[in-house]
Amino acid sequence: MGFVLCLALGDCAGTGPHVMVPAAPIAAARGAALVDPGSFDPPPDGPAPEAPDVVPDGGGAAAPVPRAAGGGGPNGQRPDRRVADIPGSGVGPGDKVVALTFDDGPDPIFTPQVLDLLAQHRAPATFFMIGWEAAASPDLVKRIAGGGNGVASHTWSHADLTRQSDAGLRLQVDKTAALLSSLTGSNVTCIRPPQGHVNPGLVRRLSDRGMTTVLWSSDTRDWTRPGTETIVRRALAGVSPGTIILLHDGGGDRRQTLEALPRIIDGIRSQGYRLVPICR
Ligand SMILES: [Zn+2]
Repeated sequence: MGFVLCLALGDCAGTGPHVMVPAAPIAAARGAALVDPGSFDPPPDGPAPEAPDVVPDGGGAAAPVPRAAGGGGPNGQRPDRRVADIPGSGVGPGDKVVALTFDDGPDPIFTPQVLDLLAQHRAPATFFMIGWEAAASPDLVKRIAGGGNGVASHTWSHADLTRQSDAGLRLQVDKTAALLSSLTGSNVTCIRPPQGHVNPGLVRRLSDRGMTTVLWSSDTRDWTRPGTETIVRRALAGVSPGTIILLHDGGGDRRQTLEALPRIIDGIRSQGYRLVPICR
């Protein structure tokens, strides 16, 4: 697997690092014109970096790497996994905040429903978007940003960024950031590499392009459709200051995620935490 850090050790070996899963019926129902060759279902954002201390961060590199302007986070070569890690978050390490994050949209069927629920509960979230999907639903991107949510990149076609040449990064990273920035009217500077596949070199290359790499600290694995109860339980387990929770609004049938969302919001707030957007 080379430099790829599959962040839940052992998990990647089971799923294979770069599995393209056939599109789901729901994705197919969108119409062939909207289904990019790079689409997928379920979204393979599986590996959860819940135990970052065991991840061989830095790949053995001992020398600290200066943080590039505009990205990289205070962790240098490491991706950011907690709200306080993210430059400009305005959040301290002990602040009782939690960030809900949604990957793999915007989806014309499910993302509007997620937004409706967030609005009903006056809860902000952050959406890590696929570039081609954002291009297909520009009004949805504008609605997300206009609702006070964070907008961030999840590459153009859900590509494994650890395998990209500079030309590949220009498409997957620069093109997506330019599109999202133009639609939202503000610079989009956060990116979540698909599947959480990162290595120190990639984080540095992204930082050089002005992008901060943001992963997560709590994975619901909602894309496996484990049942609403399980999604809620996983989301609420281990909530602590700065937790970033991974959910999905695209990539397949997200009805379980929709059912879980109000209970997740209520459960987080009942523990005295405030929901915050990130990457705004
Ligand atoms: Zn994804």
